[in-house]
Amino acid sequence: MDVDQTDKYGSERDRVVEEIAARLGVSAERGKRFAELTSLRVGGAIDWVITPKTEEEAAAIVYELDQAGIGWRPLGSGSNVLADDADHHYIVLNLSNMKGEVHIDGELVSVSAGYSLPRLCIDVARAGLSGIEGLGGIPGTIGGALWMNAGAYGHEIGTVTEKVRVARKGKVVEVPGDSIEWNYRRTSFREGELLLGATLRLKPDDPEQIKARMDDAKSRRLATQPHGSRSAGCFFKNPPASTIGTGKIIDEMGMKGQRRGSAVVSPVHANFIVTEGENARAEDALALAEEIRERVRREQGIELEYEVELWRAKPETEISADDTDQRKEA
Ligand SMILES: Cc1cc2nc3c(=O)[nH]c(=O)nc-3n(C[C@H](O)[C@H](O)[C@H](O)COP(=O)(O)OP(=O)(O)OC[C@H]3O[C@@H](n4cnc5c(N)ncnc54)[C@H](O)[C@@H]3O)c2cc1C
Repeated sequence: MDVDQTDKYGSERDRVVEEIAARLGVSAERGKRFAELTSLRVGGAIDWVITPKTEEEAAAIVYELDQAGIGWRPLGSGSNVLADDADHHYIVLNLSNMKGEVHIDGELVSVSAGYSLPRLCIDVARAGLSGIEGLGGIPGTIGGALWMNAGAYGHEIGTVTEKVRVARKGKVVEVPGDSIEWNYRRTSFREGELLLGATLRLKPDDPEQIKARMDDAKSRRLATQPHGSRSAGCFFKNPPASTIGTGKIIDEMGMKGQRRGSAVVSPVHANFIVTEGENARAEDALALAEEIRERVRREQGIELEYEVELWRAKPETEISADDTDQRKEA
């Protein structure tokens, strides 16, 4: 089945999306906005949000969409995405309901991509398994954490990942964790690769001690980062050649509290941009981010790289090579 390219975002494409979703028994909704699906609470309308509940459904859906030439992007909890304010003409595959159940077999823990990372950290700590307790305060899903190689307080998800389940030709396929490059907030997963779940290899330890380390990481986070605010965590990566972190660089330029419309540099942590108000706009957050980058470039000679992913509203056919680069950079 193919979509008539003269009618890319029109009734023909919509009919095909509806037909695929109905046939596979998966929810497909219209009228959603990124402002509802991301932690920054900004971003424009999305043509379709498809929400699979199982790994098999998700694999089947993306295969059918690919076959029909319909563009899609995977979204977990949206805690690392800044989507712009325009209308986004692609399908968002919302994976936050693909939770499945956690299976623990000795040191091996199998989990679906939609499962919450903080929840998993608690589950495995209770089961006396160590290796991800530093990640307990990172919001988001396992899929987002794998994609970004999420890390904090000495732990990174990639170092404990034994296998990743991915969608290939409509099927769930396992790839070894050591075949993937796990870098600082970046991996070798390619655009168009849907992560369905993972098996982690953790180490047995005393549950009380694991919990104590997790609590310690959480309280250090609470002491240094804004909580209860609408953010996407650190906006920029730490520069590789600098001995001080990006937050400190921005703070030393006196930018804490700096505002652009509905976006503010957090007074608590200068590498956090937070949004305020019901009608907050992505363009304010982006303008503030660019102002920070410009000043850091001019005054420190450092080119800040985005840690947050910028999702531009552009035709689905353009979500290809240059987005791969953008995602690598982000
Ligand atoms: C307050 C706060 C604190 C944070 N602290 C940290 C921190 O300490 N360390 C850290 O690393 N991050 C941190 N983050 C950022 C964020 O929480 C992590 O990057 C998290 O892992 C993103 O998960 P998500 O489900 O929200 O992903 P999303 O934001 O939904 O997506 C992020 C990227 O992953 C892709 N993706 C998501 N799921 C899949 C999938 N199943 N298959 C393929 N691609 C997928 C998306 O397409 C997107 O490219 C913080 C964020 C907030 C709001």
